[in-house]
Amino acid sequence: MKVIYTNEALALSLSNIKGDLGFVPTMGALHDGHISLIERSVSENKFTICSIFVNQKQFNNAEDFEKYPKTIDTDLAKLEQAKCDIVFVPTNEQIYPTNFKASYFELGNIENVLEGFYRPGHFQGVCIVVNRFLDLIKPNKLYLGRKDFQQCIVIQKMLALQKLDAKIELCIVNTKRNRYGLALSSRNLRLSEEAKRKSLILITCLENAKATLITNTTTDILKIQKESIKEIKQAGFESVDYFDFINEDFEVIKKNTESKRIIAILTAATIDAVRLIDNIEI
Ligand code: AMP
Repeated sequence: MKVIYTNEALALSLSNIKGDLGFVPTMGALHDGHISLIERSVSENKFTICSIFVNQKQFNNAEDFEKYPKTIDTDLAKLEQAKCDIVFVPTNEQIYPTNFKASYFELGNIENVLEGFYRPGHFQGVCIVVNRFLDLIKPNKLYLGRKDFQQCIVIQKMLALQKLDAKIELCIVNTKRNRYGLALSSRNLRLSEEAKRKSLILITCLENAKATLITNTTTDILKIQKESIKEIKQAGFESVDYFDFINEDFEVIKKNTESKRIIAILTAATIDAVRLIDNIEI
């Protein structure tokens, strides 16, 4: 496995590659969820490249950025074991040189709802960095986790907006959970064992809401939403930003009469000052 720190070394290394290239962007503090993306890429491509870069542009909260866990040595060991071919660990200057001009992406309403609403500018930051990496790496396939469901839809839209020379296939990988059902996240490192146990309420409420939705044709969506938020708070969460139902146009459902197909339920909530997100597909 090659570990690369500069754009020049990256270009040189990529010039020797003949065959399909899969790309997994990450911010490090790797866990089995990230590794499942690497494994999928390794199984579908001749070469796999992973980036580790904590992108300040996608953090709207300076403290969250400062506190982001950094575990580079164990990250590299995990990637090596997963048979990743190249790891790109650029500095901020490599990704955003002084002459770098950030594009603006016309994402429409998707960047104003849910994560977009609670983290203003977040999705522009995500698009800027992913676009920059795609430009430097030019992979055949891009691997993202369903854990960040809205991010997958945003990047799908960004790819559709771009006039790329070569088409990049977006591959979405299912959320990896611990044995009790908690979605793996780098932020879980900041949770006590008790908070992790309490956090299971998120997937429990998502699963219950989905079950009610698919077994009952006259479901009161707003009632499920209200009761789920109440249950999450009762389990020990300080706040619940949202527990929302999304239709096929990624619109948040605000009333019980919805003619469009419901595709997912998404939630974000804070426990012990750690903000967690999770979702379930319908
Ligand atoms: P991050 O380092 O948090 O930016 O995540 C890098 C990639 O890993 C993103 O595409 C995430 O959606 C994905 N990812 C994070 N957690 C999980 C998980 N539990 N299961 C699957 N993919 C994940």
